[in-house]
Amino acid sequence: MRKEYLMTPGPTPIPPEVLISQARPIIHHRTPLYTEILVSVIEDLKYIFQTKNDVLIFASSGTGAMESAVVNLFSAGDKVIVASNGKFGDRFVKLTETYGLSVDKLEYEWEGVVDPDDIAHLLEGDAEIKGVFVVQSETSTGILNDVKSIGEIVKDHSAVLVVDSITGVGAVECKTDDWHLDVVMTGSQKGLMLPPGLACVSVSEKAWEAVERSTLPKFYFSYKKSREALHRDQPQNPFTPPVSLIVGLSEALKMMKKEGLENVIRRHAILAEATRKGVVAMGLRLFAPPEGRGNAVTSVKVPEGVEGGRIPKIMCDKYGVTIAGGQDRLKGKIFRIGHLGYFDRFDIITTLAALEMTLKELNYPVELGSGVSAAEKVFMENPL
Ligand SMILES: *Cc1c(COP(=O)(O)O)cnc(C)c1O
Repeated sequence: MRKEYLMTPGPTPIPPEVLISQARPIIHHRTPLYTEILVSVIEDLKYIFQTKNDVLIFASSGTGAMESAVVNLFSAGDKVIVASNGKFGDRFVKLTETYGLSVDKLEYEWEGVVDPDDIAHLLEGDAEIKGVFVVQSETSTGILNDVKSIGEIVKDHSAVLVVDSITGVGAVECKTDDWHLDVVMTGSQKGLMLPPGLACVSVSEKAWEAVERSTLPKFYFSYKKSREALHRDQPQNPFTPPVSLIVGLSEALKMMKKEGLENVIRRHAILAEATRKGVVAMGLRLFAPPEGRGNAVTSVKVPEGVEGGRIPKIMCDKYGVTIAGGQDRLKGKIFRIGHLGYFDRFDIITTLAALEMTLKELNYPVELGSGVSAAEKVFMENPL
């Protein structure tokens, strides 16, 4: 027998309460009972997104939410800025180009943060820019971008700010309204502790004005249809929703509310700190720069002399601990430990222990227990 530990930044582990809630017999989605669940889910999502705006739900993975922002807010030929310092920023580039937007690419090294001043500079030079796209928590590198400062800049322009907070929401602060973030999105298999298949998007007043102007074709992902159904006397989804996921979401949000959003974020910060201290104590080097370290995923440089792909492989095959390798240009160069959602201290301890044994096997000079011990110190100094 072998236990499995899912330590990736999506999909993430699911609490037993949520799993059980999803095993209940299916209910019909045009009933008062479903409406009751949906209404409470939307209210709780507003709390998690820190917003009074509409929060819409779609049956898709996170990328569907990214695409929804493009097709609902813009028209072919619209000028937009896409800031990218990783794989998911690049996805916004591909998406906006696919729909014929005129894309001003702000591309950064993947080891650096997005500089808000660069966005300010571009916006000041061109009043025609209709939108700014940025990823808050770049899962491919673990880097956190400063969307608060970007929001402060974009709010004084006519452009709308679209934020991929798919591994941000529920792990780091993401104050949608206070920070003037117009469209914010997340996916179910990340901080929301659910299986994949659901995406949530908040839409500000300023973004709704952009929706009115947008002429790109949309049908299933129409924000207007979604909002109209939510605002009926008996709120609904326009099409058959993934009922079991909504029921699971209701349970997951209850858990998050009970813990309190601030405590959820604090827990993530402590888990991330322990992970960082742990890997550094093993003699490894962090990939993300100090000014851009998030709470959702810790990216670590593969030490010289070690074949990068072997670390996740041995950890998984031998110890049942699934972590993520590097993607695209970082393949074999980094590995990533996810700690987003349903995670507690011993998930980190287990992972660090498996990493130590794996490195030892790969002849990397690590002292067994060094990482675990550093993490334990963090946990003792910061009780959860
Ligand atoms: C997971 C993720 C996505 C969405 O990916 P899907 O596979 O479509 O769910 C988008 N952006 C970021 C930052 C992510 O972590």
